[in-house]
Amino acid sequence: MSFEIVKEYCVDHAVDLVAVSKTKPIEDIKRIYDQGQKLFGENRVDELVTKATALPEDIHWHFIGTLQTKKVKHLIPHCTLIHSVDSIKLVEEIQKRSLQHNVVTSILLQIKIAKEEAKQGLNEADLKQLIGAFEAGLYPNVKCKGLMGMATFTSDQTILISEFTFLKSWFDQISTYDLSSFDTLSMGMSGDYKLAIEHGSTMVRVGSLIFGSRNYG
Ligand SMILES: *Cc1c(COP(=O)(O)O)cnc(C)c1O
Repeated sequence: MSFEIVKEYCVDHAVDLVAVSKTKPIEDIKRIYDQGQKLFGENRVDELVTKATALPEDIHWHFIGTLQTKKVKHLIPHCTLIHSVDSIKLVEEIQKRSLQHNVVTSILLQIKIAKEEAKQGLNEADLKQLIGAFEAGLYPNVKCKGLMGMATFTSDQTILISEFTFLKSWFDQISTYDLSSFDTLSMGMSGDYKLAIEHGSTMVRVGSLIFGSRNYG
């Protein structure tokens, strides 16, 4: 079973493994949970909420997909970490809803590293503005724990390495700012998680290698 292999590699390298269970049924998740996995990733709010409600409470659910501001209020109570925060507007909404729920929500800022148009992420100006706002304490109910990026869908190692290195350099630069518990660099998926770990990843998001290929999503 590839779960054991991926898990062992992550444990050996002291990297967190998010098992990406999007589109997969409850039974598949339960099977991996029964092997000791507690972190799962989903990319649709409704699907995450349904699964979180049906599965054991000690699972940590991570949101990794495109997040619409109107869905933030549904997500907050069920989600441990939002990986895919890619706009100032979204941070403001997460602050507002977290305050209403009286919780502090942990997030990662998604940086655009791939050249592909479809891949989301903050540009440099917005990233700097947000980091400044976090430093100034403008979002007391949002904890910025690190950065996330999605590399180009390619097997070309040169491209992947340059994108991972680019994201790692941003991570190192922001690590010098005055943010508490800024310690998470989420990069690497089924095809490139080893390469991502070699280039500084602290958290990988692995789906198909654990659950098998998806029909959609
Ligand atoms: C689906 C997805 C993954 C997992 O992809 P695999 O190639 O199946 O490992 C990782 N990150 C994000 C943001 C995703 O949407």
